Amino acid sequence: MKIIGVVGLGNMGRGMALSLQRGGFTVLGYDPSPAAARTLAEAGIGIRTSVAALAKEVDALVLSLPTSQVVEAVVNGADGIAANGRRGLLVIDTSTADPASTRKLAAQLDEAGIALIDAPVSGGPKGALNGALTMVLGGSAEDVARAEPVLAAMSAKRVHIGDVGAGHVTKLINNLMCASHLLIAGEAMRLAEAAGVSPARVLEGVNAGSGRSGVTQTNYPTWILNDAFDSGFTMKLMRKDVRLAMNLAEATGTLATAPFSAQAGRLWAASAESVADDEDFNRIVQFIEGRKA
Ligand code: NAD
Repeated sequence: MKIIGVVGLGNMGRGMALSLQRGGFTVLGYDPSPAAARTLAEAGIGIRTSVAALAKEVDALVLSLPTSQVVEAVVNGADGIAANGRRGLLVIDTSTADPASTRKLAAQLDEAGIALIDAPVSGGPKGALNGALTMVLGGSAEDVARAEPVLAAMSAKRVHIGDVGAGHVTKLINNLMCASHLLIAGEAMRLAEAAGVSPARVLEGVNAGSGRSGVTQTNYPTWILNDAFDSGFTMKLMRKDVRLAMNLAEATGTLATAPFSAQAGRLWAASAESVADDEDFNRIVQFIEGRKA
């Protein structure tokens, strides 16, 4: 593994490409957005003008794309990986995506002698830039072992969950929980205020007790209490993740007996009316159904 391609040079892909470069790999990239490509060209990343050109040159391809639809187009398009990647190529999909689509693509690529693992991430743009992401992995032990040097350059913690798709299942569950924790924490902090106690003080107590979560320990101090709302993860992407989690619950027949999850799904979907797509995802704590933000 010497030459690595990165497809999708947005908030996450940009940092991953730079971490790979710092890790000693030759890094090439592709993004249809000229601005995204330009930033990385200035940092010494070799920019290619198509996925096909990239796929022909590299040992592994890291995908960091918005949705499964885009991943499918990048894999199966005429200009895509399946038609242009060489046998033995390893595809590492770090996008948060639909596990059913991931399994289907892995089977299709396998016929072309190309392996795919799912490696969705937590840690945001800062984690991507510092090579400090957390990854949950789906794929065969052999493919995950082959990917290890590439994954190690981008992440500080990796958990191999199971076969292809298991990483994406885990990521959707993680984000459903994070999205739900944000909703309950937003309600709880409004309760604190109404009861005459400062949310910051209440959070200090909660974080010393059993009500704490990643949201109360990290999101509140880092992006919410200081009114920064600059995590680099958007409402649009979190709404996508919650929607995918709802689809998974529906497909597995568990949604009917999951009222909390269903309500979280409904509230995140309803937030689209008043909280814009490009707002920070932490803005959901200010969302009250029926009220314009
Ligand atoms: P982003 O929108 O900033 O970047 C996506 C990039 O993909 C854009 O630069 C876009 O031009 C590019 N793109 C679109 N279509 C393409 C195509 N056909 N070929 C190549 N590139 C294409 O999104 P992001 O925040 O970097 O997120 C990327 C993925 O990582 C998403 O699946 C997201 O859910 C996931 N994720 C994001 C975060 C975060 O904090 N931002 C954290 C964890 C996971």
